[in-house]
Amino acid sequence: MYLAFDDTDSRRGMCTTYLMAKFLQETGFAVKGFPRLVRLNPNISYKTRGNGALCVKLGIHGSGTRNVIGSFNGHSIYSYENVEEIPDSCVLMKEAVALVQEYAELNEDSTNPGVVVMESPLPSDFYSKALSGEIAIEEAEMKLRDAGANFVKIKNGRGIIGSAAAISWPMNSVTYECIAYRYPRGESISHERKIEIAEFANTFPGTFNNIDRDNDYAAIFPKERTPVIYGLRSRFHEGLINFSNELDEAFGILPESKILYVTNQGTDDHIVADPQSIRELGSYSVQGRIMENPEVIQGGHYFATLLYMGSAIRIAAFEPTKSFRRIFSSLRIGDVVRVYGSYVNGSLHVEKMQVLDLSKQFIRSPPLCSRCGKRMHTRGMNDFRCPSCGAKAKHPDYVEVERKLSPGLYDVPVMSRRHLSRPFDIETERTVYQ
Ligand code: ATP
Repeated sequence: MYLAFDDTDSRRGMCTTYLMAKFLQETGFAVKGFPRLVRLNPNISYKTRGNGALCVKLGIHGSGTRNVIGSFNGHSIYSYENVEEIPDSCVLMKEAVALVQEYAELNEDSTNPGVVVMESPLPSDFYSKALSGEIAIEEAEMKLRDAGANFVKIKNGRGIIGSAAAISWPMNSVTYECIAYRYPRGESISHERKIEIAEFANTFPGTFNNIDRDNDYAAIFPKERTPVIYGLRSRFHEGLINFSNELDEAFGILPESKILYVTNQGTDDHIVADPQSIRELGSYSVQGRIMENPEVIQGGHYFATLLYMGSAIRIAAFEPTKSFRRIFSSLRIGDVVRVYGSYVNGSLHVEKMQVLDLSKQFIRSPPLCSRCGKRMHTRGMNDFRCPSCGAKAKHPDYVEVERKLSPGLYDVPVMSRRHLSRPFDIETERTVYQ
């Protein structure tokens, strides 16, 4: 039986992932595989932070290989290769709703939890739509009803959208994250210490997005105070919990709980490659030729124009992408690039870029004197004179300029990366465990 919940937190506190840790601690259901942390459309205005929804597959008893997937107050939480006996959906729902009522930030207007319990996943096109567009509550409700799901909406219940989408995630490509918690607030750790811890985290195999050295930013820690202490991301789950325990010991961190999730982070699942048409709130990868050089506007945001399938697309590198803007601003008319990003307010917000081919760029300059070889001076429009022998010429020279850019793969800095975006230097694996 699948259980999913979403939309329990606000900017003031909580994190929906913490509810998963709490649920697994308080209820004795057997977990199949890993709990799932599923990131959805990063462009949805309703999101609190990372637009994440949670889902877990549960049974009454577990069988086959048993693995530790976390701990709560020193007690291990296990998962199983298989789960037996389907739990009663009403019992599951009652337990989940009670926890949501207890922990969700229900006083906040923007917190609208939704809990879904169902036996089989929804078709994965619902997941695709939840990553690329905006879904109405009524649409999610209709899909869930048609599939015979049990669902509960609290307040306007928008969370059922994320919950349904999390259940429909096909897990074609996955990474893992071990999140450590302390309720209600993670530990307060000095900046220097955070950097040291993030450097340590960065030694785990297959790990990504831990630290941004250029911007002196430890990305394993949340930006705001929530129950999350840190999150360790990797392509591999083997050894991740043990590594997290070592990290706690080395730095004197005392989490109340931790959970190892399988996630769609760092998979590019939100990206639709080479679309026929581009729509607001969708995320795409498109290849084309630069047709207008980048220009900067107030605030340090850069815009250029790309020719894609006969249409001009505005592409942008915004201030938060920091040093990536230097690369972007070096693009010139005629360059061939593949850009990845979300289309919001009429421009594609570039989150990574492959530079495929550089155009030759020339600058106009006075010609060399054909008599004495000296560089001529400009006297007027198409009027050049040699300063040495006085010879005249009408036509300028065009001198090729050395490009500051090289063909290659360019990511935005770790600090400005989106959860879903796959850094160019990681490969995501197909899961064999779920
Ligand atoms: P956190 O990451 O800290 O848990 P969050 O950023 O996930 O918070 P939520 O509080 O869960 O934000 O709010 C996101 C809301 O948007 C949820 O109600 C979810 O159901 C809804 N939602 C997610 N994707 C879509 C979508 N594609 N269309 C419409 N609504 C969506």
